[in-house]
Amino acid sequence: MARTAVPASLSPGDPAVEVRDVSVAIDGKTILDGVSLTAHAGEVVALIGPNGAGKSTLLSVVTGDQEHGTGRVTIAGRDLAEWSLRELGRRRAVLLQEHGVFFPFTVREVVEMGRAPWQNTPRDTDDDDAVLEALHSTGLRRFAPRQLPSLSGGERARAGFARILAQRAGIVLLDEPTAALDLRHQEDLLRLVRAGARRGDAAVVVLHDLSLAAAYADRIALVAEGRIVADGTPEEVLTAPLLSVVYDHPVEIVRHPVTGTIIVVPLRHDGAATDSETP
Ligand code: ADP
Ligand code: MG
Repeated sequence: MARTAVPASLSPGDPAVEVRDVSVAIDGKTILDGVSLTAHAGEVVALIGPNGAGKSTLLSVVTGDQEHGTGRVTIAGRDLAEWSLRELGRRRAVLLQEHGVFFPFTVREVVEMGRAPWQNTPRDTDDDDAVLEALHSTGLRRFAPRQLPSLSGGERARAGFARILAQRAGIVLLDEPTAALDLRHQEDLLRLVRAGARRGDAAVVVLHDLSLAAAYADRIALVAEGRIVADGTPEEVLTAPLLSVVYDHPVEIVRHPVTGTIIVVPLRHDGAATDSETP
């Protein structure tokens, strides 16, 4: 069978994902309204915002799963519509919010699915290495022969993420990848995303934990009611007045005493940032 040439990789700072003035309406309701967002190679961009803000819709526009009315989406500088699905699979990996693979595949089989886009390319010689490394770095080696339905929700989520790692696509699009994970595995996952960015990958990651976003993202885009209302460094975006309005709940910004990293604390009860319910 003919072997396919693989795409040249991006250089740090190249635009990996570009969304320009995209609007989406479903059944006459505006879901995204003139959204623009760029993620560069080497960069972790966190998408934050309240439930129903449009984060998943924005991600699905980038993956091509959601059609948009106006606007333009490019992946690695090329219009999304010009990519074949198979080519896209070599360029970007997608972890959906509802990735629930409940079919009786083993963990190893799920991770191997990440290699499908590389079949019959010069890079298919990396398959075994990529699968092993993904299992290893997600701590799933001993789970490799286990069937997905026998795993806990968090273990299944890690298997889904291991598939993304094995794909070695250079651009990762992750919708709430940490939602089912405990504290340690949240940190592990985002550390792996950061390590990818250090090697030149671009990542767009939907996160609900704002302190986690502050710690791991280079840039944060805050989505509210279908628009990007702020886009900048964690320091620029994570401000108490803005978050309190957008989340409709008062928050306080504190700094880690040693690292200076931003920590977002919801105010509880009478303005105290601690649980004041205890007598
Ligand atoms: P988020 O991921 O930020 O929580 P979503 O992008 O999933 O938000 O949804 C944004 C808004 O669009 C929500 O109000 C949701 O109910 C609505 N929405 C999403 N998909 C559809 C659809 N297929 N039909 C109707 N409304 C939708
Ligand atoms: Mg969502």
